[in-house]
Amino acid sequence: MASAVQESRSIDHFFSAPSGRTDRWRDLHAVARSWSRGETARSMVEATLQELGAIEEFHAFPGQELLAALRERLQSDDASGFLALAKRISVAIITGNYKHDSKEWQAVDLSMADPVDMLPSSLGESSTYRPYFEMLAVTPAPMARWPHMAAEFRRLRRPEDAFVYETVLVGSLEDAVCAAVLNPNIAAVVIYEGFALKSRHDAPVLRSVIAAQQPYLDKADEADLALRLAAGLKAIRPELDIYLLSDRRVEKLAGDPRAAMIRRVMYQIEEPLELHLSVLEGIEARYDTPFFDNLKRYAQRPVATFHALPIARGKSVFRSPWIRDMGQFYGINLFLAESSATTGGLDSLLEPTGNIKRAQEMAARAFGADQVFFVTNGTSTSNKMVLQALIGPGDIVILDRNCHKSHHYGLMLCGAQPFYVDAFPMTEFSMYGAVPLRTIKKALLDLEAEGRLDRVKMVDLTNCTFDGHIYNTRRVMEECLAIKPDLIFLWDEAWFGFARWSPFLRPRTAMGAAADIEAWAQDPDAAVQHKKQREGLGANPSIETLLDTRLVPDPAALRLRVYQTNSTHKSMSAIRQGSMVLVRDVDFHRVEAQFHEAIFTHASTSPNQQLIASLDVARRQMELEGYGLVMNAIEVALDIRHEIAVHPVISKYFRVVGADGMVPREYRTSGFVDFLAPDTHWDDQLRSMREDEFCLDPTRMTLVCGTAGFDGTSFKGLLAAQYNIQVNKTSRNSVLLQSNINNTRSDVALLIGVLLKISNEIEARLRQGGEDERKAFAARVHSLMKDVPDLPNFSRFHDAFRTDAGKTTPEGDIRTAFFSAYKEEKCEYLRIDSPECDRRIDKGPALISANFVIPYPPGFPILVPGQVVTHETITFMRKLDVKEIHGYEKAKGLKLLKPDVLASKKK
Ligand SMILES: *Cc1c(COP(=O)(O)O)cnc(C)c1O
Repeated sequence: MASAVQESRSIDHFFSAPSGRTDRWRDLHAVARSWSRGETARSMVEATLQELGAIEEFHAFPGQELLAALRERLQSDDASGFLALAKRISVAIITGNYKHDSKEWQAVDLSMADPVDMLPSSLGESSTYRPYFEMLAVTPAPMARWPHMAAEFRRLRRPEDAFVYETVLVGSLEDAVCAAVLNPNIAAVVIYEGFALKSRHDAPVLRSVIAAQQPYLDKADEADLALRLAAGLKAIRPELDIYLLSDRRVEKLAGDPRAAMIRRVMYQIEEPLELHLSVLEGIEARYDTPFFDNLKRYAQRPVATFHALPIARGKSVFRSPWIRDMGQFYGINLFLAESSATTGGLDSLLEPTGNIKRAQEMAARAFGADQVFFVTNGTSTSNKMVLQALIGPGDIVILDRNCHKSHHYGLMLCGAQPFYVDAFPMTEFSMYGAVPLRTIKKALLDLEAEGRLDRVKMVDLTNCTFDGHIYNTRRVMEECLAIKPDLIFLWDEAWFGFARWSPFLRPRTAMGAAADIEAWAQDPDAAVQHKKQREGLGANPSIETLLDTRLVPDPAALRLRVYQTNSTHKSMSAIRQGSMVLVRDVDFHRVEAQFHEAIFTHASTSPNQQLIASLDVARRQMELEGYGLVMNAIEVALDIRHEIAVHPVISKYFRVVGADGMVPREYRTSGFVDFLAPDTHWDDQLRSMREDEFCLDPTRMTLVCGTAGFDGTSFKGLLAAQYNIQVNKTSRNSVLLQSNINNTRSDVALLIGVLLKISNEIEARLRQGGEDERKAFAARVHSLMKDVPDLPNFSRFHDAFRTDAGKTTPEGDIRTAFFSAYKEEKCEYLRIDSPECDRRIDKGPALISANFVIPYPPGFPILVPGQVVTHETITFMRKLDVKEIHGYEKAKGLKLLKPDVLASKKK
């Protein structure tokens, strides 16, 4: 049974090795129970325990002592004793209780244990809570000495330590990698030189872990195992502090660039206390939240305020008989921490010099950026800031027409010329995918052919898309930079900030790809690759040839300029509207002044203190537990996918669209089908992540509800009203489910329970309703699933707004169009249900949209200012059965610009 479970979960574990551990303990618990009932042979329990043992060596808890006690009970045929202990251990692991309760570490008899060696030193009793982590020690010492070494570290604990840790010991590079992957509690690594290369184990799970990490390990040469390990660990978990204990002269290491990855090099013989203190200091450096810490201090001080913010200190609230409940609801600290001051230790977000500056620098370190800017008005504002900072009037920006409206409005404000490119359509679900690279390259090459390449400043894309399409960020940037080496990239990663903390997703983030490209450009081989390709392509390659070639940029010419915006509040523990701009731009110094102007333009002069504090804290959390949390979010998503797919009743009415349904085959050249597809192995997924043009973020699940007779909007309403389940986006026949760092296994159970209830109700209705009911249901499903409107691609800008555009390229002047609508005499209205509408589209004069028209769902502008209305648009609007359409009043009709008035503007 255990092995069958492992088999079916093998792909899940590629993403979520740590959570796989709890499953194994659940399995052991289950096998132990049936052994105690005499239903399973002891050998079965033995095999399960054996498999588990290899993984448990990478965790401090339960540790050798408890495992030995388990084995002993197994040997002595003590089935009930075994069950009791296995149950206790698995509960302790699932709840994490062992981190705070020393009793969990003891096998049976409390009097037998040496209290000095017990974790965690007064944690339970002390009033101050001390966070727990594990330290990995990689050592050449014989295994027999490991318990002694762990005890030695334990003895170094002092009451004044801010954190408490246990040590996990391993003897080889491979085991160290496995430990870092499998154990999210590990926060620091101590490497003693002289350890082995190969693992002592040959468990299949470990082989796969190592195989999955091979690319990182292969990067380094054989020569220096310690540095090779450090580089490998940093590639998997960049947040880890690494300490090297060496007998060699430290100066020898200094010349190696990989030595920069090591927090501190020490002599092996140095005081162990020194190491202990360094390790704690390293954790403190991540735990430190300069702005939040200061805000807490500020709140404790007696301050008389004579500035405008009556709510500060809470007196206007708590003294009032009428609004006192607000104070009771939020608690006093919210008001004590409110201030409009930027002095007294509080920094200014608009021009930070103190703790906000430090907090932003720490975020830059955490997110792999050169600079980070905190934004308290959401990514809507972050996007407008970045666009204004980098784009001037007349500049061309290539962007996805379906991107968030902040981009469209931002470009309108800048007076940019948007060059809209279309994502591949997913008509079946009334949604769009992502923009194929070929389309983006073609846009650049067409502009080049028009002699307008110098006007293109930026490629602006959403990664991942709302529905989970992840770009091959590295490939997109490399190929675009091969055409224009100083192109700027804005990656809107509103939903994807968390991806930094998954080694599998990180290479496909803006910052991850930027780091990889930077490293590649420094490799001498890069210039050779580029030269070879250029020679191969010859002097004047055709556009078609360039589109078919995977272009290599010129490493000497490229200027890497990458911006990322993320709604920290959407995927991490920030308060709503908390957002960040991440910058990795070699030419940032040249735009820095503009960047600050853009901040001044868009940021509120009264940024919310709690929001800034939450950005600071969100960063702390991700640096200390992000790896495990993200793994868990992915595991939860894979669980939901699995449960829905295998459930005999639910799967009749609902399904989560697989990777194969979300990403057309032509963009999945690796051949990867889906996370749940039979015979899918880790390497397939890894190859897909590395090679495919698009892959699917497993945490974003398109749940088809049209097959259950619900349209997306009413299904969303049903889940919210009757079951307290909130979902985000909907389409005509689907809703989007999303797991994140706060989800647990209980959420999976809740959701599956609700889907089952709804499915059973449908079954009952169909049974009782007879033939008529079944026919009506089938008709409804058919209408939702088959009678779907074609998605309207971007048509074109009217010529009146293309006086400064290329002959064959579609860019247009959206700002002039937008402001033309301010003059009433230039506008007209036309109802889309009028025959006049069709007549004018056929015979003219053209219908020109005066504003943005954005239906929710799908949430992208089907019309932008200056865009010519076509039959496609009107047909889509007529079929659209949603209530909410921004920029359109049904009774009045479409707001249009009068072509005859515009005619005077033509050249
Ligand atoms: C939500 C979202 C935004 C806007 O972010 P806010 O933080 O809500 O202002 C921008 N882009 C995308 C892709 C989004 O999903």
